[in-house]
Amino acid sequence: MPEGHKTHFLARQHTDWFAGQSLKVTSPQGRFRGDARKVSGRVMDRCEAIGKHLFYHFENDRLIHVHLGRYGKYRMHSTPPPAPVGLVRMRWVGQTWSLDLNGPTTCRVIDRQTREEVIGKLGPDPLAEGSPARKKALVWETVRVSGKPIGALVLDQSVVAGVGNIFRAELFFELGLDPRTPGIELGKATFDSLWKSLVKMMRTGLKYGKIITVTAKEAGAPRATLEGRDRFRVYGKASCPRCDRSIETIEIAARKLYWCPGCQG
Ligand SMILES: [Zn+2]
Repeated sequence: MPEGHKTHFLARQHTDWFAGQSLKVTSPQGRFRGDARKVSGRVMDRCEAIGKHLFYHFENDRLIHVHLGRYGKYRMHSTPPPAPVGLVRMRWVGQTWSLDLNGPTTCRVIDRQTREEVIGKLGPDPLAEGSPARKKALVWETVRVSGKPIGALVLDQSVVAGVGNIFRAELFFELGLDPRTPGIELGKATFDSLWKSLVKMMRTGLKYGKIITVTAKEAGAPRATLEGRDRFRVYGKASCPRCDRSIETIEIAARKLYWCPGCQG
């Protein structure tokens, strides 16, 4: 599932390629057809990412709200686009570029009020606009009184928006933190380190358009060239890069979490 760095990366890309253009919006698959008519032919002003949500602001005060979920995928084409492949929920045809969206969890046209309601349910997004100190303080207010494991709290979008399963695993490994630690036992200094690491990891992900947590020195190659699991320290790995023990998985918040019980005990 795309994590927060990816939605912000897409928002920048889609703003670069489509903002200020009147878009022809259709639904080759049909499920988005009624909504597509509400924005087709209108100018898309900007794209905004908050957590794992994308909001495309149109001139007529309508917005397209997209949540990619586990299977959502965008495909770019030059204009005119080729025949749709698979179940294309939404197709945009712009001046130079066209965009297809297949398999999203959410793809609908909403008004500003509904956007407010969606955002109101989300915790602070480390990559979104707003005071970094304020965001950190808000997350800490929730974490410090919670009896839930920190491994569940960081994945809860109402606590902090944009963190998915890869960031979660890599974050706790970097800190040597046991993901079962309840928020209430975390301590301010540990939380400070956690937040610093999270912001750094998400910014790196946004820069490269993919999650990369190893350093170039650790990887023995420039970071931009890394692909697949070479980009990670612990996620999907067999053995720990620090102590060589076997990496194990535990289920926290219904998702499999990779960790090293040696380094994170
Ligand atoms: Zn280890």
